[in-house]
Amino acid sequence: LNYQTARFLTSAPTLAQCPPDEGREVAFAGRSNAGKSSAINTLTQQKALARTSKTPGRTQLINFFSLGEETGRRLVDLPGYGFAKVPEKVKLEWQRHLGEYLRGRACLAGLVLVMDVRHPLTEFDQMMLGWADEQSMPVHILLTKADKLKSGAAKSALLQVRRRLQEWEDLVSVQLFSALKREGVEEARVRLDGWLAE
Ligand code: GDP
Repeated sequence: LNYQTARFLTSAPTLAQCPPDEGREVAFAGRSNAGKSSAINTLTQQKALARTSKTPGRTQLINFFSLGEETGRRLVDLPGYGFAKVPEKVKLEWQRHLGEYLRGRACLAGLVLVMDVRHPLTEFDQMMLGWADEQSMPVHILLTKADKLKSGAAKSALLQVRRRLQEWEDLVSVQLFSALKREGVEEARVRLDGWLAE
């Protein structure tokens, strides 16, 4: 698939307002500031498809990007999560919408979970993994900002995450990524291709 063809399609605040549940989708999730927008922009080779460094507390929407109009293939940017300044009530609301989307979306083929390589497997990440596991949804983890660590430290972070997720190894794959250095792009695209093909 040609990820450079990704174009903004629509935004939806809830599952009910999402585009028709057909074709195939891959969704991106991550704790706020993990580097999710940068990863989407890097994979699609676009400067500002997903906005980076959003204002905390802004209304959180599920954003859809189409990969060519006829293909029925989409990338989905799920709301970031975890800004301390957001009231608990709002957090719970986002959590509910995320859960609804992940549980209720039949065309969702896989989930990309973006983590800062220096702070992997946050509480949010574990919640997402739990939801994915419930539905046997495959997950690909991008340990991003790998350029912030020396190569040995990045490799050992990768091995550590793999080890912690060993019991899920049939469903979960993990790789290093850097939006800054454009590292890991091909590896990630291969995984996405596997989910979106057919
Ligand atoms: P999001 O909230 O998860 O969408 O995170 P962003 O993509 O907006 O990134 C948060 C911050 O991390 C920004 O200041 C980015 O420039 C920075 N960032 C994102 N990816 C990388 C990366 O691969 N390397 C480095 N060094 N910084 C990154």
